[in-house]
Amino acid sequence: MSSGRQISHEGEAIVLRTWPFREADLVVSLFTRNQGKVKGVARHALSSRKRFGGALEPATQVRAYYMERPHQDLVQLNQFEILWSPLRWPISAARLAALQLVTEVLEEALPEQAPEDNIFRLALTTLKSIQTEPLLGEVRLPVTYYCLWMNRLLGWMPELKRCAVCRADLRDHASYWCATRDGVTCHDHRPANGRALGLASAAGAELILRHPLTDLLREEARTLICPEGLLIFAIATLERHLERRLRSAAALTMAAI
Ligand SMILES: [Zn+2]
Repeated sequence: MSSGRQISHEGEAIVLRTWPFREADLVVSLFTRNQGKVKGVARHALSSRKRFGGALEPATQVRAYYMERPHQDLVQLNQFEILWSPLRWPISAARLAALQLVTEVLEEALPEQAPEDNIFRLALTTLKSIQTEPLLGEVRLPVTYYCLWMNRLLGWMPELKRCAVCRADLRDHASYWCATRDGVTCHDHRPANGRALGLASAAGAELILRHPLTDLLREEARTLICPEGLLIFAIATLERHLERRLRSAAALTMAAI
């Protein structure tokens, strides 16, 4: 028998991922507002719709009730209440891939049990802004916003205004980047396998890092804020620091947003 006591928790969380576990249980990875990322067991999750219902769908915002147990890595998940579900709105291939990108980056980038309130708020705002796409950009803008801000909040966002080699001012010039190096460069120092980050992308990044997503989404010209090249750059920066490819990013490209 273990000594020590159980600690019960109640708080807001985002469901990141689930795995089958034992006969009828699931392991759930949760990003909680108060404790950061937490993994727990939802016992009889597959049969107990009353306690979990549709709340185990990744990207769902829930109020989670769980118990920390002494000497156990996995908490015991007792009940979830849905606060917001991605299933409220129609799911398209692009929207699904975008929702998955948000949860996959959280799952891969965050350490266990380290609260990150800024990242929690960013993730929630992004999830709720990823709607179906009557217009191109309804998905791309929130995803680009999220990826750039995740890079910034994790300390991975390179400076875009100066060449990383010679410090030349790049504000009125195309800059270049590649997936294996930090920062962007001027034309003279562009890497052999470098890609151009156009002036429109650099301007879009500046807007995104200065304004709330809700304001940018109201802009008539919102697709101009995030050229495809900016999203590709933001994803490549995340992938380089994570040292792996993001599965959902490939799906997002396939969905041709
Ligand atoms: Zn240079």
